[in-house]
Amino acid sequence: MTTIENKLQQIHERIAAACAQAGRASGSVQLLSVSKTFGADAVREAVLAGERSFGENYIQEGVEKIAAVRAMGLPGGEALQWHCIGPIQSNKTRLVAEHFDWAQTVDRLKIAERLSAQRPEGLAPLQVCIQLNVDGGETKAGVAPQQALELAAAIVRLPRLALRGVMSIPDDAPGFEAQREVHARAAAVFAQIRASGLPGLERFDTVSMGMTGDLEAAVAAGSTMVRVGSGIFGQRDYAPR
Ligand SMILES: *Cc1c(COP(=O)(O)O)cnc(C)c1O
Repeated sequence: MTTIENKLQQIHERIAAACAQAGRASGSVQLLSVSKTFGADAVREAVLAGERSFGENYIQEGVEKIAAVRAMGLPGGEALQWHCIGPIQSNKTRLVAEHFDWAQTVDRLKIAERLSAQRPEGLAPLQVCIQLNVDGGETKAGVAPQQALELAAAIVRLPRLALRGVMSIPDDAPGFEAQREVHARAAAVFAQIRASGLPGLERFDTVSMGMTGDLEAAVAAGSTMVRVGSGIFGQRDYAPR
């Protein structure tokens, strides 16, 4: 087995154990492999090990990697789902709309409108999560929990987007209980939107939270998608790009 294959197995075991611990069905939590800063070869190894969903933070890097992986013609490659999980500035919406399958970091209507307008007709609707700011911080990305329902109501009217859920990136909290408590706030917003009766929530099923360091707490709080990078691909090297 390659190292990436080994690490993937360990992460799947952690997810399964966390599901069992939380009394949740195994398979109720999807793994998003976060490949930012790693090359197409690392993605290839993960695809050959069976992974199909990848997350990228830096849009230009992601677009290049998507093309490089596609050119490899891997078995299963046509089923890959690429998720944008980094900040989306207005001048990058077109790249996201044209190249990614998901945009998880939508926190403003203006960005959602641009993504919808720029999503090519030949592609499936862009799958979207509302990014929440669950631990305060004026400067952090994400919409305040109290404003999430209003944003959801606007997004479901946009023709080329499919609202799939919420995502959050809380700061590190000390210990399992503190992590679980912060993640529970995102799960509560998800439940509130789902119970709202808004039209256009047919596929509203995703709570994207939990990373290498806190996936157990996120699963305990109701995560349906954990985003794991270093636990699969190793430490990242943030050399100047
Ligand atoms: C980098 C990143 C991750 C993965 O973090 P790890 O700690 O390496 O697992 C998950 N989500 C987002 C939004 C990230 O930027």
